[in-house]
Amino acid sequence: MNTTKQAVQLPILEPSRHNYDRLRVCRKCGRFTILMDESCPNCGKMKLVPVMRQARSQTIRRMLNELLITFILTIAALLLSPDMRLMALFAAVGIVLLVALVLVQRRAVERETARELSRLFRRQQRDIYDGLVEDQRIGVEEVRAGNEVEGYHILRKTAVLVQNDRLRLALLSLLQNFRLRSDMDLELDSLITRGFDPLVAEYIGEMARIKRDMIKERSIRYVIEHEPKILQMEQGWNILVGVTSAMVRMKRYITTYPGFIRRYARHLPRERFVRLYRIVQSDSGLLQDALAHDLEAIRHELYPNDPELTPHGAIQS
Ligand SMILES: [Zn+2]
Repeated sequence: MNTTKQAVQLPILEPSRHNYDRLRVCRKCGRFTILMDESCPNCGKMKLVPVMRQARSQTIRRMLNELLITFILTIAALLLSPDMRLMALFAAVGIVLLVALVLVQRRAVERETARELSRLFRRQQRDIYDGLVEDQRIGVEEVRAGNEVEGYHILRKTAVLVQNDRLRLALLSLLQNFRLRSDMDLELDSLITRGFDPLVAEYIGEMARIKRDMIKERSIRYVIEHEPKILQMEQGWNILVGVTSAMVRMKRYITTYPGFIRRYARHLPRERFVRLYRIVQSDSGLLQDALAHDLEAIRHELYPNDPELTPHGAIQS
């Protein structure tokens, strides 16, 4: 199976502070996109700006309008004043108002921009969604044209903003074509679907093999929830043993899921078994669990004279 996988270099997804940082909007036609092209994928104009900048310029435009209105009202008051004394008074009031407004606006610009941005997301939710679906279509086209890595990268970027199982499975089936390595920029939790799918289970198994640290609560719960279905898979047994191997790295997982670990402990590689055995031996709570009993039986059977495995209370020479 591994022989059909391609050796590839997956591009790194630069971490961004907000998940909308990569989202841009076309000032000409209003198309939203995460594609990195310089020109708009819809109208071809070079009018793409990050949504943050769009929100900021809208905020500033609104603030300038407020200033303009205040200025016009001041002028109107000046023109309508019957004598010089009132005119001077209105002029003074107008200037004070304008200065005060500028000061207030300057302090509020960041907060107002954030508010404008959330308004933009609310009002244009549908347009943003449509734009990203269109981006995904372009990603799928890339894949069909044979540029699987590029297509994967596009889909992955859209997945930061649009999350659904269909997209997760598309990403997983693309990943299946690649020979994955531990030094790659891979993710796991965000690809786990709501329901069961063998693609997810296979990917979890693959991660347990190459990037053990990525097996966390979410994948563990997924595997436990769908254990019977995974067992029916061709590689199911290996996946479950692999996940158990990964779980053994943290005591927390052993104390939380002793029943699951018990079922696969016998099939762990020796080094993982030793680790599990030692953790259980060092914890009085775990020693009361049926898991400890099982481990003892396995030790007797498989590793009777192993110096690295000494039961609790035994004299160590
Ligand atoms: Zn456009």
